[in-house]
Amino acid sequence: MSNRRTSQRSAIVRVIREAHGPLRPLEILNLASPIVPSLGIATVYRQLRRLQDAGEVRAVDLGVNDVRYEPTDRGHHHHFLCRACDEVFDIHGCAEGVAKLAPPGFDLQGHEITLYGQCSDCTTSK
Ligand SMILES: [Zn+2]
Ligand SMILES: [Zn+2]
Repeated sequence: MSNRRTSQRSAIVRVIREAHGPLRPLEILNLASPIVPSLGIATVYRQLRRLQDAGEVRAVDLGVNDVRYEPTDRGHHHHFLCRACDEVFDIHGCAEGVAKLAPPGFDLQGHEITLYGQCSDCTTSK
């Protein structure tokens, strides 16, 4: 494996880890470009696929028209989607009693919760 490939990958991992929530590939490119100036969007997609295959990164589908990526080791958490700036923020904690919503006799295996609204930056810049 070449050093160049390793540093592209580690730069991508670093920006995903330092983010306050899951990132779109274009955001990853913009944040990682200062670290690895030769980086292109095709490389970002290729590395994201490899990181997913390696189990280091997972795709988050919030039901909007894009997929964002986050580390797999972040533990149980949810997301807040800002409808004004389109950024997604991790929410730590869970909804009390959410498991009780499963119908009787159903085998509950997990849940996703996405809150929508405006982030603090957007509510104060009005
Ligand atoms: Zn916002
Ligand atoms: Zn939860």
